[in-house]
Amino acid sequence: MEEFRMSGETPVIDLTDVSFGYTTTPVVEDISLRIDSGEYVAVVGPNGSGKSTLMKLMLGLLQPDAGSARLFGQPSHAFDDGARIGYVAQHASASKEMPITVREVVKMGRFPHVGVGRLSQEDWDIVDRALDTVGMTAFANRRVTQLSGGQRQRAFIARALAGEADLLVLDEPTVGVDAESVEAFYDLLSALNEQGITILLIEHDLGAVTEHAARVVCLNRGIYFDGPTDEFIESNALGRAFGTATAIGGVQ
Ligand code: ADP
Repeated sequence: MEEFRMSGETPVIDLTDVSFGYTTTPVVEDISLRIDSGEYVAVVGPNGSGKSTLMKLMLGLLQPDAGSARLFGQPSHAFDDGARIGYVAQHASASKEMPITVREVVKMGRFPHVGVGRLSQEDWDIVDRALDTVGMTAFANRRVTQLSGGQRQRAFIARALAGEADLLVLDEPTVGVDAESVEAFYDLLSALNEQGITILLIEHDLGAVTEHAARVVCLNRGIYFDGPTDEFIESNALGRAFGTATAIGGVQ
């Protein structure tokens, strides 16, 4: 999609002819996908269509069987500047979090920058600014286990901001989050994207996708659609990805 490319700039994510299978059967096949700095991209597709696998390939957590995966210009599996990437997992996995406070979670974002050293006043200022940006200052001393789903997800975004991440990767971040908080959450993502942070969203909720992401990648082993969101809505790519005529509300 030529209109998404800014020539000369290193892409944030660059997959070329990537295939991967956990067994001999490929789960993703022949994927070529480039995401540039500042984009807001959603990956959608039915359950088991390879979304999580694709994300792991992008981030270097899995290596392609064929093709190449690059992250910020380096081979993804060799990429070692984790602070540039903020990852927000599904709410469901948060139950395994340690009973530490919001501020302690956000402070972790500074660890790649300070190593084993103590946080300076400047680091703490960055932590406080991140808390403020996500509207969590009032909850700074509350344990993350005592937050609502939406608040917890904002705390994890604050951790990424404290780490000065320039790529946010979110895997169905609002599963189990109440509708009002979901809206606030996506408003926050849009505001961060306007500030230049690249957003990669893996999402079931097509309402959220079509309202917020500028570009949609529709996946079912291969790419069924990659382009602007309004064209995606008109394309019936989702129906083709499912192999049936499927209404937008029917995605799993
Ligand atoms: P999605 O995120 O779209 O639901 P996944 O990438 O999780 O899809 O899964 C794609 C396919 O790969 C599915 O058939 C799933 O069962 C399979 N799969 C996922 N993870 C593993 C794994 N660790 N080992 C074997 N098969 C896996």
